[in-house]
Amino acid sequence: MAVSELHRDGGPAAAVSRTAAVSTADAHAQPVEEVLRDLAVDPNQGLSTFEVTARLARFGRNDAGEHETVSRLEILINQFRSAVVWLLAGASGIALVFGEFREAGAVAVVLVINTAIGFFTELRAVRAMEAIRHLGETRTRVRRGGATVSVHSADLVPGDVVVLEAGEVVAADMRLVEARTLQVNESTFTGESVPVEKSRDPVSVDAAVADRTSCLFRGTSVTRGEGLGVVTATGKATELGRITGLVAGAGDETTPIERQLKSLSGQLIWVTLALAASIAMIGLISGRDAFLMVEAAVALAVAAIPEGLPIVATLALGRGMWRMARQNAIVERLSAVETLGSTTIIFTDKTGTLTENRMAAVAWWSPDEAGPLQELAAKTPVPKAVSFGLELGALCNRATVGPPEETSVGDPVEVALIEAAQAFNVDRDAVSKRFPEFDHLPFDTETRMMATFHHGDNGKVFAAVKGAPEAIVARSSNEQRKGTPHPIDEAATEAWLTQAQTMAEQGLRVLAIATKTAAHARNLDVTSGLTLVGLVGFHDPAREDVPDAVGACRSAGIVVIMVTGDHPSTARSIAASVGIGGPAERVIAGSELDPVASMNEHQRQTTRSVRVFARVDPAQKLELVRLHQEEGAVVAMTGDGVNDAPALRQADIGIAMGQRGTQVAREAADIVLLDDAFPTIVTAVREGRVIFGNIRRFVVYLLSCNLSEVLVVGLGILLGLPLALLPMQILFLNLVTDVFPAFALAAGEGDADVLERPPRDPSEELLTKTHWFEIVRHGLTITAVTLTAFAIAIRGLELAPNE
Ligand code: ADP
Ligand code: MG
Repeated sequence: MAVSELHRDGGPAAAVSRTAAVSTADAHAQPVEEVLRDLAVDPNQGLSTFEVTARLARFGRNDAGEHETVSRLEILINQFRSAVVWLLAGASGIALVFGEFREAGAVAVVLVINTAIGFFTELRAVRAMEAIRHLGETRTRVRRGGATVSVHSADLVPGDVVVLEAGEVVAADMRLVEARTLQVNESTFTGESVPVEKSRDPVSVDAAVADRTSCLFRGTSVTRGEGLGVVTATGKATELGRITGLVAGAGDETTPIERQLKSLSGQLIWVTLALAASIAMIGLISGRDAFLMVEAAVALAVAAIPEGLPIVATLALGRGMWRMARQNAIVERLSAVETLGSTTIIFTDKTGTLTENRMAAVAWWSPDEAGPLQELAAKTPVPKAVSFGLELGALCNRATVGPPEETSVGDPVEVALIEAAQAFNVDRDAVSKRFPEFDHLPFDTETRMMATFHHGDNGKVFAAVKGAPEAIVARSSNEQRKGTPHPIDEAATEAWLTQAQTMAEQGLRVLAIATKTAAHARNLDVTSGLTLVGLVGFHDPAREDVPDAVGACRSAGIVVIMVTGDHPSTARSIAASVGIGGPAERVIAGSELDPVASMNEHQRQTTRSVRVFARVDPAQKLELVRLHQEEGAVVAMTGDGVNDAPALRQADIGIAMGQRGTQVAREAADIVLLDDAFPTIVTAVREGRVIFGNIRRFVVYLLSCNLSEVLVVGLGILLGLPLALLPMQILFLNLVTDVFPAFALAAGEGDADVLERPPRDPSEELLTKTHWFEIVRHGLTITAVTLTAFAIAIRGLELAPNE
């Protein structure tokens, strides 16, 4: 099948881009070169802007229908699902039958106004949520016009050359052009969560989707390695697009609170109808005007049915989400909002969340030289040992550095290394040119190291390696002294680790730099035999606003626990500086942490009391979340890496980082922090509490009003008084006093002391006994006041009864 057939809406633009009349259905079985030729694209250049525009017009946007927007018509139709609308229509009909045309018209007007309010409220809430979802739109890196640029994933077209990296979610179906240790999680299709290896080699023509190892599919995620793919299908033409309906849009999601309110109002409808009917019956039996009684009953039912509850709740959630979005917290799953309010524990990582993530390389240690980098750089000539180490640091590097400084992109540690190298007259571009890179191993949170491989002088090859000191030292057998490698014994190994420890105790993030030379690339194995060159200490100050936020958590009854991949001493020092534990705080390292399954109850309790965990790997994060949940804690947890996804899902609130985080982490999370900052979590928790409080408030308000309306009319009739409220007055009251004040209550910004109370018990009902008492108390008060006023009016003013 040709691409033009896959997309039926091939418009006039098809003529413009005639080069791309391509067949991609068998792309998995064709050699890469053939696929590229068919798609008319050079993988080094990518498509031209002109070609992209043409193909976009021809194939449409890359939207597989996961996020369909709700149409106005659907929202309008929704309004007619409510009992109130039918009651009002009925009331208007009865008035017509009785020949009361003015009354019939008036009720019809009420019906229109009621529906309009419902319509606009729902429209606003729905659109607001859609807008927030747009903020979280994903981007993809593509090669276009010879440069690598980041575009909205929805703008991908067939033929686009996509740069793939671990942590990314695949945004379209594509054929691999290059793959380096590429692994993909295809559980969205296969249910199988073991990653699949991918390569550029063609597979058999009749291979099933799950066996097409030469292709990647929309909705799957890259868990390891890197690659380059060329897009073969976008939007509804993707495999994912074909199985539409399998992927539910986040928009249909209802939250526990909305469900509770729906069932509450469902029950109340019947109670109300029964009450209204019996009031009308009593009135009729005691010989009152039949029309008035029926209309009063209907009006009463309309007024008392709490049909506004779910919708006002949605509005409250929507408002709250907006406020959170303004403060850099994007809610990905609506139900997270109410869970947030009951959070009891926050697991937070360190780098970038508690700290600024603006690294500066400040200290150096090697057997030849040691001290603050600034002082070492001032020496003439600059120490050889340091400049050699920083040369390796500049080579083992994926960052790009300005000027101007703001244009620097990449891992802040790597940016800092390049900047430090400059002070030692090492120019990154020059060394990269002199020692061309032919391969690399990306940084991996499990091995905690990264390596690049280069062509060196006199035909040899060498590796530039950097990583966590323990990881590097464990793989080393030499150290660099006076320009040459010397074997290290146990004492020397110990010296390196002690130095790393000393730097870490000052709160520095420490990296070890190492190298290895070989005659041949295939002998260049970086898992052993490395030569240690030096230790670099990076200063990463704690964010200024973190101590206050940690303090706020304490008064809010929320425990903050640091879980980091960094060194225990660095972790302790930073933790102390932000108020998580003291300077002598007990820190547990991942290697000391037993599997939870093998712990006895006493060990579990002790582990629960630990506030700082270091050198923890992602699997242990998951265990820690479970350990605390076992005890009934509501856990919020931050994560940024690919491997963090399981822990983010397990946590009651998974929090992903908008800047540092991978797309995989974002997909798994309930909330995304645009600024990656810890205080934003606290803000979100506060909003969660405010929203829940607001919903409670207007529910109590609405129900007490409704109760009083029923009582005023009902008691009046039982006591044989004239009608205290005429049908039209009831309807008017319903419009004015119910909905609008409820809106106001739903949109409130919360009390100043919301964070000074303990977290809400998550098993607590929306309306507890206390709240029901409150409803009855308010309802009775309003009734008493109204009836008293009415009685005074009848007596004092000697009004004529209205019948
Ligand atoms: P954190 O919780 O502090 O973000 P990570 O899991 O990201 O920890 O990193 C763990 C360790 O890996 C760091 O302490 C550091 O020693 C090392 N490391 C981090 N980034 C890099 C990198 N880009 N290259 C090499 N090593 C790194
Ligand atoms: Mg990190």
